[in-house]
Amino acid sequence: MTKTDILSLNLAELEEEIIAMGEKKFRAKQIYEWIHKKKVTEFSACTNISAQFSERLSEKFCINRLKVKKRLVSSIDNTVKYLYELPDGERVETVLMSYNHGDSLCISTQVGCKMGCSFCASTKAGFVRNLTPAEMLLQIYETERDSGRTVESLVLMGIGEPLDNYDNVIKFLRLLSSPEGKNLSLRHVSLSTCGLVDKINKLAELKLGLTLSLSLHAPTDEKRSAIMPINKKYGVKEVIDACKNYFDKTGRRISFEFSLIAGVNDNRETAMELIKLLKPLSPCHVNLIPVNEIKEGDFKKSPNVKSFQKFLTDGGLNATVRRTLGADISAACGQLRRDNI
Ligand code: SAH
Repeated sequence: MTKTDILSLNLAELEEEIIAMGEKKFRAKQIYEWIHKKKVTEFSACTNISAQFSERLSEKFCINRLKVKKRLVSSIDNTVKYLYELPDGERVETVLMSYNHGDSLCISTQVGCKMGCSFCASTKAGFVRNLTPAEMLLQIYETERDSGRTVESLVLMGIGEPLDNYDNVIKFLRLLSSPEGKNLSLRHVSLSTCGLVDKINKLAELKLGLTLSLSLHAPTDEKRSAIMPINKKYGVKEVIDACKNYFDKTGRRISFEFSLIAGVNDNRETAMELIKLLKPLSPCHVNLIPVNEIKEGDFKKSPNVKSFQKFLTDGGLNATVRRTLGADISAACGQLRRDNI
């Protein structure tokens, strides 16, 4: 019999399981706190449950772990990049970053990615599978265990398209914010998407309080479809309408990511098109990212980042340049990959 992955169960599901084992309901909350708050890795470490019950728990459930296959520490900043091995041997990367406001973790949501953005390393080796809610949580728990640091904010910007793994991501977010677990407010979470419109609209209805980051990278269908295949399915107007709906429903302003690529999307004309597109969505925020070069692509960093930013701010948009962290260990946006051996 395969064991149930206990870290992927929410409290209500665990209560059902525990009652079905003939135990009292309150035991479920105790166990949930042991595995999520105290992060025990064996049932025998739960000191307020009997040895006999802990034995029965380990027959029925497993507490999964991720193995640190590689740990790269940046010599420029405090960034640490982990290559984790999942229980089935697949691998993903996770990046721990340090900011003035505390430590932030960038997690992966899928093994590989189907989206095919031409500038992103994470999609180059294709898609393998979705991560489970537990595998997303474990990137946090294992990183906290390994580094001794506390994750205070989270970005879903690692490998994969989070909204292409919608149900598991939503379950993960609920586990993450549950008071009996890590209890992280979803106001400290940003989710980045290449623009799956139906899922953005679904997410808006949940009013979870998280920040939506939209990977825009080009302001017109012609320019966006040339670098992001998803734009052929959901065009610029549809994506922008979905962002407007997200803002209207949740009151959370949208953050637009724009990776500046030399000769592709970094001229004045593009800046003007962007202003026209985003002005109706103000207050919103544009995050400019000098594109990170990857070995499969010939895209080069734009030399015009500062002037592009000035065009936008002069045009009335709020635009900042994202600080690149972990550049010496390929831990920056779009550089994460699952075959990093
Ligand atoms: N699939 C999600 C999250 C992944 S990446 C998404 O598409 O949003 C997080 C951000 O890094 C996205 O905005 C992505 O477009 C951007 N990115 C990808 N490759 C990049 C690169 N080489 N340089 C700079 N940013 C990149």
